[in-house]
Amino acid sequence: MQPALLVINSGSSSVKFAAYEAADEAPLSRIAHGRIENPASPEAAFTQLFDWLAQQTGGRALLAVGHRVVHGGAQFQQPARVTPAVLAQLETLNPLAPLHQPHNLSAIRAVARLLPELPQVACFDTEFHASQPWVAQACALPRRLTEAGIKRYGFHGLSYEYIASALPAHLGAVAEGRVVVAHLGNGASLCAMRGRRSVASTMGFSTLDGLMMGTRCGSLDPGIVLHLIQQPGISVSALEKLLYEESGLLGVSGISGDMRTLEASAAPEARQAIELYAYRLNQQLGSMAAALGGLDALVFTAGIGENSAPMRQRVGSGAAWLGLELDAEANQAAQPGACCISKTGSRVAAWVIPTDEEGMIARHTQALLRGNAPAQRVKPPVA
Ligand code: ADP
Repeated sequence: MQPALLVINSGSSSVKFAAYEAADEAPLSRIAHGRIENPASPEAAFTQLFDWLAQQTGGRALLAVGHRVVHGGAQFQQPARVTPAVLAQLETLNPLAPLHQPHNLSAIRAVARLLPELPQVACFDTEFHASQPWVAQACALPRRLTEAGIKRYGFHGLSYEYIASALPAHLGAVAEGRVVVAHLGNGASLCAMRGRRSVASTMGFSTLDGLMMGTRCGSLDPGIVLHLIQQPGISVSALEKLLYEESGLLGVSGISGDMRTLEASAAPEARQAIELYAYRLNQQLGSMAAALGGLDALVFTAGIGENSAPMRQRVGSGAAWLGLELDAEANQAAQPGACCISKTGSRVAAWVIPTDEEGMIARHTQALLRGNAPAQRVKPPVA
């Protein structure tokens, strides 16, 4: 029996996981997956998970664990085998992604405590954007700050990397052209690709920038931050909470940060939140098209991109000036899976392609360990 690779995507309120059969040929086949909601602690979650996995996979040996880690900073532009030194370096990046990085790293630490012999690999959401030109990464701040790492990193890289790998099968030669991918989940961003490499992204130094999101504000005049921080009684952590957790769709609607809930609501505030979301998405699509000098294809992915026909319709209609003719019927009828939603003859192609961040992490983990990590028959700890 082939050993298994486990992929862990640990967030603030849930741990997503997927197990794959470690084989030489890609794509790796997924043998189990799921989500643990609101775990009491990472240790409790993983003790339960290892136990469950052992039952599900008939006691298969576990080869390694691959983790999604949101920030690799300037140091990590490739997946890395986790060592205490690597973990210490990654910890210094916690303030840059306070909503994600600490959770990603506590998952790594918890697995190391439970199964110290098991190889762990960190895969970064920033690494796909390392190919961006200097102008896309620089901030117009004093040079010493840019040199100290205050620059635009970009995120959702594992999702974009997966989509880039899937583009040729769907778009043919157009895949190598000017493509914008819209990753629209709870977090949301756009990535401009040429030759399937990132040339620009709407997320920048942090995961706050760019598009309006579920609970994050997206691009904001920095003068507003200066104004708010000078108000009596507001602390830095309260401001951080405001921008990361109380803004976006939730803040504007006052109802929910969840697109599905807002689409089902008749409240005018819900309509306005959706309208603002689409307006800003279209604005920033224009910015990505400008970075590319035009547009050949637009791809929608993640929860909203894959499932919300009304949002795709709004964005598609707003992109008519770029040469996109959306096929309203194909868009409405789109089923789970990849499908084309632009009219035949549209100068710009539009597609829905489901993302697979976990699959991408599994591929990286397998590639990094191939040949140098013997499978270990780890005994899951008793729950
Ligand atoms: P995460 O970024 O946490 O992985 P997802 O990619 O699952 O999140 O995206 C979550 C978002 O997708 C939520 O706003 C949710 O409402 C939205 N979504 C999921 N299904 C639908 C649907 N059928 N219609 C509209 N929005 C949807």
